[in-house]
Amino acid sequence: MHNHLKRQLKKYGASENNFPSKNDWKDFIESIDRTYTEFDKDQYLMERSLLISSQEMQTVYEKLRSSEARYALAAQGANDGLWDWDLNSETTYYSPRWMEILGLEIQKDDQQTKKCWLERIHPDDRANVEEELDAHIAGHSNHFSNEHRVSHSDGSYRWVLIRGLAVRDGDGKAYRIAGFLTDITDHKHIEEKLAHDAFHDPLTGLPNRKLLMERLEKSLGRMKIDPHYSFAVLFVDVDRFKTINDSMGHQAGDELLLKISEILKSMTRSDDLIARLGGDEFVVLFEEIKDQEQITKIAERILVQLQEPLRVTGKQIYSSASIGIAFGSREYEGSDDLVRDADLAMYRAKVNGKGRYEIFNAEMRSGVVSSMQLELDLRRAYEQQEFVLHYQPIVSLNNEEIIGFEALVSWNHPTRGMVPPNEFIPVAEETGLILPIGQWILNEACQQMRQWQEEYPLSNLLTISVNLSARQLEQPSLTKQIDEILSDARLDPKLLRLEITESVIMHNAEQAVITVNELRDLGVRISIDDFGKGYSNLGYLHRFPVDTLKVDSSFINRIGNEGENAEIVQTIINLASNLDMEVVAEGVETIEQLDFLRKINCKYGQGYYYSRPLDSVAAAEMLRGFVREGYSFKGVLPFRQLQPNELMN
Ligand code: C2E
Ligand code: MG
Ligand code: MG
Repeated sequence: MHNHLKRQLKKYGASENNFPSKNDWKDFIESIDRTYTEFDKDQYLMERSLLISSQEMQTVYEKLRSSEARYALAAQGANDGLWDWDLNSETTYYSPRWMEILGLEIQKDDQQTKKCWLERIHPDDRANVEEELDAHIAGHSNHFSNEHRVSHSDGSYRWVLIRGLAVRDGDGKAYRIAGFLTDITDHKHIEEKLAHDAFHDPLTGLPNRKLLMERLEKSLGRMKIDPHYSFAVLFVDVDRFKTINDSMGHQAGDELLLKISEILKSMTRSDDLIARLGGDEFVVLFEEIKDQEQITKIAERILVQLQEPLRVTGKQIYSSASIGIAFGSREYEGSDDLVRDADLAMYRAKVNGKGRYEIFNAEMRSGVVSSMQLELDLRRAYEQQEFVLHYQPIVSLNNEEIIGFEALVSWNHPTRGMVPPNEFIPVAEETGLILPIGQWILNEACQQMRQWQEEYPLSNLLTISVNLSARQLEQPSLTKQIDEILSDARLDPKLLRLEITESVIMHNAEQAVITVNELRDLGVRISIDDFGKGYSNLGYLHRFPVDTLKVDSSFINRIGNEGENAEIVQTIINLASNLDMEVVAEGVETIEQLDFLRKINCKYGQGYYYSRPLDSVAAAEMLRGFVREGYSFKGVLPFRQLQPNELMN
């Protein structure tokens, strides 16, 4: 019992089992109310009302009847309505406040029925109320207390707390029950809001991680007992979200997330659960699925939809997402493991080029631990200078002279050996580490080219091509940075070619146009890399001062088997010459491809046919060997047949 009540009872020479006498009752009630100050109000009111109810009920109600004003006063303090049922005559008394709580007319005639209340109870709550009420009347509980919804005369439902106590005859049979009714609607709303907030993401209103995990636990549980039940988890991560957030501001980032949540809603059924885990990570739970294909089809549809341009803060942006899929299985111990696997698959989708989905398989666990681990590793790699550049010659197809090199970065990992760029550039972009790494690459490549120019007289005609990532192109200071690197290296800007992929341009067209123009003013040349790979919209070519198109290797390596590709390459070459651009064919591996390219007048090529990317020592050796030949592969072709590791030694 509440200490406050205990103390007050003691003052009256009473105790929990021995209440104050009838005469002292009024004083007692008043004194506990008066002295009540610092206690937990709900607890106190509850106990007080039970205490009052525990008093010989007859006496209370006799008093109540004779001096309702006095009793009502005490109850009003708690803003409670009173009720009193006579179980034998089935007559019921409801106080004015009780009626008010339900918006009912205050009636002189207090011969209401028990029904008046029960019928107002929300259909979902009624059974439970009746059950507890009957249990108390039957003597199975010390008191009756229940929270439920009742309909108000205005049509809404109110939350009420009802408390009651039965009065029993000598045989313990209840013949009366009475108590209090408290309107707890406001409390409930706050409670509901808190409960909602605890399980939902404030930005999108979607379920959060906690709710997702609860639902997943249920799904895993169900899977163990129901052999026909299966489910899948889709882990969706927005590509380059950080870049958009950083370059366009948080409001734009928020808007993008809202748009994505709308898209996900529109692509799923209403009973699929879509949760936002935080940041740009969403998870969709599909229950009762037919087969894997059903889910991969949905993933494909989502990916296509997310590639459509979106309007964010008035600007058109291109977004995409990477998706990891994990299917529920009885082997999962908990929801955490399942989400982790979907995350790993998503991460694999990023590594494999973004804008795609991957299905989890156990091998992924043994691969890179997580993007977080990779990020830490990359930071260390940058500090320890573990990145190295390889140089692949670009060749003029007519006379087979080298016209320049493309610099390609690799990571010389202490335990994994040479890690190719596709395995770490996506994470470097995602985390922003590409900025310092990219600056190092630019500087290193320019310094190297300068050194070769000094050592090999003819090489001052050679150009150096450097790949630029989206993140780099978005830096307003990029032009200044490159200007400084060039003057540092004392390299003619004309000899630097920056390679940009189409997707980079499409993702941030406005800023890209500005930066590319600035770079062109500086004298630097621009190549479109992997041309033809992603986007079919060629309109941007007219807006960009581009010097070179590098035709993606996927077109070149299918030349020979399919005439169709040959036609496309021919069309690209025509287009380029109309726009006054040069064309470099990427990934030339065979003499057949080379012959075809020559036939259709493609001027430049790059690929294993001539040389794999070489480390700086091997590239220098090649230059030294070529001095006599005018930097031509003519007559030195066996060179290309050496393996890269032989060349590097
Ligand atoms: P990319 O710029 O299109 O580079 C050409 C890729 O094709 C290189 O792969 C190269 O080794 C490979 N390649 C060259 N000739 C052949 C061939 O005959 N057959 C085949 N199958 N492949 C050939 P690598 O080095 O793995 O680079 C992959 C991509 O990573 C690059 O594609 C580029 O997009 C990116 N990357 C490389 N270095 C950098 C860098 O320094 N910065 C940035 N941002 N991205 C880079
Ligand atoms: Mg390139
Ligand atoms: Mg390329």
